[in-house]
Amino acid sequence: MPTYDYCCLTCGHQFENFQPMTSKPLKKCPKCGKKVERLIGGGAGIVFKGSGFYQTDYRSSNYKEGAKKESPPKGDSKPDTPVKKPDSGTSPKKENKK
Ligand SMILES: [Zn+2]
Repeated sequence: MPTYDYCCLTCGHQFENFQPMTSKPLKKCPKCGKKVERLIGGGAGIVFKGSGFYQTDYRSSNYKEGAKKESPPKGDSKPDTPVKKPDSGTSPKKENKK
C-alpha cells in the first residue's frame, strides 16, 4: 500500500496518508478542514526525500576506478601509464631460503 503525502493549501499542514491506490484521495485537511493537495512523488518538487542516494553510489564506484589507476607506486610522474604490478613475494629465490 502506498503512502501519499498531502499538503494543506490553507494552513500548510503536511501529513502522510496510508491508503490503497483504488481509494479516493483525501480532500480535507484534518486540522482545518480545508482543501488539501496530494503531493505526487517527483511532481512539484516540494517533498524530495532520499535525494543523493544515487549520486553517492555513482561517486563511490567512480572513486574506486580512480584508486585503481593510481595504485601502482612507481617513482614516475605519469599517472596515466598502465603499469602492471609484477607478482612480488612469490619469487623462487626467497623460497629456497629456510
Ligand atoms: Zn489545514
